Amino acid sequence: MARGGTASPKQTPTDWVTRAADDAIRHAERLGTDRVITCASGASPSGPIHLGNLREFLTVHFVAEEIRRRGLPVRHLHSWDDYDRFRKVPAGVDPSWADHIGRPLSAVPDPWACHASWAEHFKAPLRAALAELGVEMEEVSQTERYRAGAYRDQILTAVAQRGNIERVMSRYRTKSAPVPETEEEAASLAESVADAEDDSTGVGDLARFPYKPYCRECGRDTTTVTSYDDETTDLAYTCTACGFEGVTNLSTQHEGKLVWKVDWPMRWSVEGVDFEPGGVDHATPGSSYTVGKELVKEIYGGRAPSFVGYSFVGAGGQVKMSSSRGGVPTAADALKILEAPILRWLYVRRQPKQAFNVDFGAEVVRLYDEWDALGRKAADPAKRDPHVLAFERASSTAAAGVLPTPPVVVPFRVLSSVADVTAGSAEQISRIVSHVGHEHATVEELEPRLTKAMTWTTEFVPASERTTVRSSPDTERLSALDEDEQLWLAQLLDRMPDELDLAPITELIYGVPKLTRGLGLDDVPTEQVKADQKQFFRLLYNLLVDADRGPRLPTLFVALGAAKVRSLLGG
Ligand SMILES: [Zn+2]
Ligand SMILES: [Zn+2]
Repeated sequence: MARGGTASPKQTPTDWVTRAADDAIRHAERLGTDRVITCASGASPSGPIHLGNLREFLTVHFVAEEIRRRGLPVRHLHSWDDYDRFRKVPAGVDPSWADHIGRPLSAVPDPWACHASWAEHFKAPLRAALAELGVEMEEVSQTERYRAGAYRDQILTAVAQRGNIERVMSRYRTKSAPVPETEEEAASLAESVADAEDDSTGVGDLARFPYKPYCRECGRDTTTVTSYDDETTDLAYTCTACGFEGVTNLSTQHEGKLVWKVDWPMRWSVEGVDFEPGGVDHATPGSSYTVGKELVKEIYGGRAPSFVGYSFVGAGGQVKMSSSRGGVPTAADALKILEAPILRWLYVRRQPKQAFNVDFGAEVVRLYDEWDALGRKAADPAKRDPHVLAFERASSTAAAGVLPTPPVVVPFRVLSSVADVTAGSAEQISRIVSHVGHEHATVEELEPRLTKAMTWTTEFVPASERTTVRSSPDTERLSALDEDEQLWLAQLLDRMPDELDLAPITELIYGVPKLTRGLGLDDVPTEQVKADQKQFFRLLYNLLVDADRGPRLPTLFVALGAAKVRSLLGG
């Protein structure tokens, strides 16, 4: 297939996704035509897949989507590095799991006993979140690939060329490690330390052997290669954990894996990877991408994929995590409060090298407002710019089309404040929302936003910021009202209808102080009236919610209903 699709018509906005897709297509063209362009992601299911890890998946997803939109054959290939060793027992897990350290993640039992293995336990919630996010990918289990002997030839090549591999690796190893100054550098350093562990695989001149068997007896990678026969490809090892001494044949038995820095470039060549992102630490000198780039050429005659380094994603606001462990929120946590397109938007609207936080606190309200405003702008074709492009990438995929958004868009601040005031059911909130100016036929028309607003209000807004409606009138305060206050409340209760709707009740609440100064409801407030309004509003908050401020008063009135308001205001 001809790959002429990269040229964009004039006026079409571009962004980092456009450029990364251009690079991936260029890479694919060099490797020959009639190929499916491969955009690869990889993750180790060693723990909860947090919002930082999610960037790996979404970066690849957006680039693959862009290529798909240009009509080119493309796949998002995801590797689960479940053949990696289990490194340590996290807090909250039975300490006896220490027995499994050194075994592949796919061979460690699930401490929560709900999945087939440790690895599957952490893959499952991410799969569900990705489905909601509209991310479709071809998944590969590295355990399955290695065990099936899929890399047999590449392993034999690497082992035969171990001298060349060591020549490349040693050039980087001699560089002295800097003291880490940033989180990324620290991660990079941690990676080097992990590599150093990997590096020591055998005795004598086998110390840097690029392949490590898992012990046939105990399943751990605590093995030391003691001899290797290049003719027969017999590899002898001893296990320091259980004392087993065994021989595995690299041509016929598939019991181990290549060390990480060789494993990654090996897969680039086997899978024909054209694009693969990584944490920015992967691209520093001596890191796995830099070394892999040389090794793939040197050992496999391949060409490293085009690369995008991405930065850290954190979390802000009060984060309450129900599903995850380890103190970091996951995609599933974020999807409890953010519509899928909005979560996608957080990742696509920024350059990968920009770090950011997903905020679970008050920012959520502003984020929804910003998103809704962008949606209105995107509806006008004349306003198409990079911001609108990000909106488009966030809101739909080639396969799924437009991702679920509410048919009737009600500001998140309205839904959450009604949920806050009523602490009520979806039906009750829906009814009130109709009365505050957002007509809709069914509760479903407010979904998925309504449920997320309810969840956010009850689970993420601190108790101190929640609204607590008084259960009974403040009789003490009501008996101590001054003359103005008595007049305001009398006017209000006298004119308040039994059925409350937003526009008339807004006019009345703002108008009461005007009436008591001899003005009409429609009159422009004087300075005196404005001062009175302030006093009056505070009085209402005191009497209704036992606070000096709260949600917008008209919304509060409609949410509470006339009867409740009357009872609390002494009517
Ligand atoms: Zn489980
Ligand atoms: Zn053993």
